[in-house]
Amino acid sequence: RFADVAQAPPDPILGVSEAFKACTDPNKLNLGVGAYRDEQLKPVVLSVVKKAESKIFARNENKEYLTIEGLDGFRKATVDLLLGGDHPAIKEGRVAVVQSLSGTGSLRVGAAFIARFMKGSTVYLSNPTWGNHRNIFGDEGVEWKYYRYFDADTVGLDFKGMVEDLKAAPPGSVVVLHGCAHNPTGIDPTKEQWASIADLCKERDLMPFFDVAYQGFATGDLDKDAFAPRLFVEKGLEIMVSQSYSKNLGLYGERVGALVMVLNDKEAATRCLSQLKRLARALYSNPPTHGARIAAEVVNDKELFEEWKGEMRGMAGRIERVRGELQRALEKKYPSKDWSFITKQIGMFSFTGLTPVQVDNMTNKHAIFMTRDGRISLAGLNSAKVEYLADAIVDSVRN
Ligand code: PMP
Repeated sequence: RFADVAQAPPDPILGVSEAFKACTDPNKLNLGVGAYRDEQLKPVVLSVVKKAESKIFARNENKEYLTIEGLDGFRKATVDLLLGGDHPAIKEGRVAVVQSLSGTGSLRVGAAFIARFMKGSTVYLSNPTWGNHRNIFGDEGVEWKYYRYFDADTVGLDFKGMVEDLKAAPPGSVVVLHGCAHNPTGIDPTKEQWASIADLCKERDLMPFFDVAYQGFATGDLDKDAFAPRLFVEKGLEIMVSQSYSKNLGLYGERVGALVMVLNDKEAATRCLSQLKRLARALYSNPPTHGARIAAEVVNDKELFEEWKGEMRGMAGRIERVRGELQRALEKKYPSKDWSFITKQIGMFSFTGLTPVQVDNMTNKHAIFMTRDGRISLAGLNSAKVEYLADAIVDSVRN
């Protein structure tokens, strides 16, 4: 019966971690997966998370199921974070929110909603994008297409191409936009470009679906990193948003996130919430408790919230510092090439432009593990390894 089941290919991102684990080279470096590491390249549990957990444990809460839509304190916190507290949409009850299984699970609930209630709509993904977007929408049976995004010549945004492709999208299509710190390129539209994209979505009746996986992690500032979705709401657009606390609160394995719909009408929001609950009920019934309690504790407590912002600035700052160090090392070793893109890109990743063959050289010769699209996670780099990485890049580019 199962003899005909073919072997699935390894995941292009998580497969890199598996290969890294199996490697015995003492110099090995994992720049594949986007998980933050400290200067010793060790995983980090934020101090605010430990403090929140102490408070939670002291309350001795039970392990009963949450409701399908999740923990109320968390749902409030996550919308406050996204839109800014006291936002009119919140006061007017125009926001539907379900706590879901981190960014991925929230996107999947959104995809299921699109499949059921926006039948026949095409979802437009940036080219390139986070690899799992294709799986998430594709597995729901939603048709997806690319819009142009990355310009290899300028190592920047192909804004003209993006606008052309979105203008050509049929009305009623969905446009997936990375809220900030685009993965994998690290290139975001400027404020002016965001405004044009919003206007275009309005004119062409496109539904923006923001993937917000790095709020506060990109620049260290929660408000700055929420600029785009807030602008779209301000311009009267109805949006869907998936939020993740994997990176900014370091809750990766706890699976904490939400799917949010900001609508123009309260009754529609109520009905959409009821349908999101219906979809979630069949997918996983109700979301996990622990991580949501942590996030709610941190966001809703003034002191912890301030401390969290400091810790986020610390993470974003370390990444920015190693970006600078890597750029300077490369400029020294290979001055004829322009390496300034490294510090122009933001967030966790740098899109190096290395070809798959060059990436193979990085891994096979230098034990540096990264995805074959040429993306490196700077969260996995420290000062001690900058020279080693720069030498390997130069060796790979030259050969
Ligand atoms: N979207 C993007 C763009 C991401 O980079 C990630 C994490 N790599 C996610 C969503 C979802 O991650 P998680 O499911 O851990 O929240």
